[in-house]
Amino acid sequence: AARLITGDCPLNAAVEEKLATMKGLPACRLFGSGYLANIGVIPALVGRGDYIAIDERAHACLHAGATLSGARTEQFRHNDVDDARRALKIRGAGRALVLTETIFSMDGDAAPLRALGDLCDDMGAWFMTDDAHGFGVAKIDNPAAIQAGTLSKAVGAYGGYVCGPTPLVELLTSRARSFVYAPALPPPVLGAAVAALEIIDAEAWRGEKARAHAALFASLVGAPAPAAAIVPVIVGDADRALQISDRLADRGFLATAIRPPTVPDGTARLRFTFSALHQENDVRALAAATADAITTGRERPRR
Ligand SMILES: *Cc1c(COP(=O)(O)O)cnc(C)c1O
Repeated sequence: AARLITGDCPLNAAVEEKLATMKGLPACRLFGSGYLANIGVIPALVGRGDYIAIDERAHACLHAGATLSGARTEQFRHNDVDDARRALKIRGAGRALVLTETIFSMDGDAAPLRALGDLCDDMGAWFMTDDAHGFGVAKIDNPAAIQAGTLSKAVGAYGGYVCGPTPLVELLTSRARSFVYAPALPPPVLGAAVAALEIIDAEAWRGEKARAHAALFASLVGAPAPAAAIVPVIVGDADRALQISDRLADRGFLATAIRPPTVPDGTARLRFTFSALHQENDVRALAAATADAITTGRERPRR
């Protein structure tokens, strides 16, 4: 049942304490998933009469949380600090919250966190980030006081979390509807998370190696240098992206085609993610197969 009803399995606190320590923040609250964390914390912080400025490419659950909150929401251009300033200038008298990701899930690039943090200080706004694709892969210098994330990506378990000041975490415990009214994570999942967090903490080489694989792949296919372990190869047309993905699957490579509306129209892409357990030979073979599939796709379009 919900933790407020039947009490806590001690593994909840073990995960929360470990996450708070690893993030260097005072406290942490777990949620059933990253999606639930984001749609819980945003409406707990702001509501009608308040204001949200959000990166246009932020994950769907950050946009959903903004909508649920009832706060007036303005999008700023991706990673554009000047446009974020413009968006914040039209806030009213209420509270203001700035939302972005650390590493973007579909672009693999990093947010200008320092500059956005300074902007928030300047404008008296709260700053919250979603670290789904940084944690466990890249050590990120993050000034945000409120840091959400997930245990379902590099951690390899399940669940979501919000780290931040202790009063915020106490507020979430009674105000975030997706915490109050949703059941706790199952103990085996929490146990897996504790073990994974210990490995991430002790074996930094894993994240480094995943990043090195991504960087090597990007250089081989001529893509921009990635900020962590995600490399998009933009092909434009959605059918072509599917076709290239199929060709790579035939050769034993899982490269997912990402199409609108997940990404903007005309920017369908292959999304490659790398792991510490890949071998350098795998990465080189994938790069060759990708170049091949892209050329072949051009010669023989589907339909
Ligand atoms: C996957 C993801 C989420 C959702 O996390 P879940 O725990 O899988 O619900 C939130 N934000 C970003 C950026 C993600 O990539």
